[in-house]
Amino acid sequence: MNELALRAAIIATAIQMNERRINSGKSGNVSARTETGFLITPTGLPYESMRPEDIVRVTLGGVATGPRLPSSEWRFHRDIYVERPDAGAIVHAHSPFATTLACLGRGIPAFHYMVAVAGGKDIRCAPYATFGTQELSDGALVALSRRHACLLANHGMIAVEASLEAALALAIEVEALAEQYWRALQIGAPNLLSDAEMDIVLDKFRNYGQQAR
Ligand SMILES: [Zn+2]
Repeated sequence: MNELALRAAIIATAIQMNERRINSGKSGNVSARTETGFLITPTGLPYESMRPEDIVRVTLGGVATGPRLPSSEWRFHRDIYVERPDAGAIVHAHSPFATTLACLGRGIPAFHYMVAVAGGKDIRCAPYATFGTQELSDGALVALSRRHACLLANHGMIAVEASLEAALALAIEVEALAEQYWRALQIGAPNLLSDAEMDIVLDKFRNYGQQAR
């Protein structure tokens, strides 16, 4: 994909994020890796009025170029691309149910086998830190260790995948799981799957892909 097409795809993903109700307003942000760094949505601009030239180019050293300022959360995007060679795109949303759990400092345990879609036996919640800080980024990277998604306490969630399409799909899946977990919590304590059961699911996902679900 050339850079112009990638810029357009980032905007389309950001708009989808709001249309699919995993984000609202100008919160949240989307980025995609390039050869020299990454492209990210700018700060403070509604997605609907964004044009490809508004998307900001940022190097892995953290130098931004373009007429707009990058999202205030550019730092964790940068750190994820530096630390995670598997990361091709990142979706960060303040989705309602994931954020609700995150406001209680709760991650998502193995209450449903699909939790494995994020790469492990749970989806962790990173500790709270002020938005845009190195502390937030450091906590997110720990929570994302061997995972493709995490929650951020009192904030939202991050989904990391090889492509924009996959990152958006994962963010939608994590939000659905957060809603199901939240609903289950309303009427009792959900039965959690054992490590052995989750190992079977993780193995199936690895060997057969997600068609197996
Ligand atoms: Zn945020």
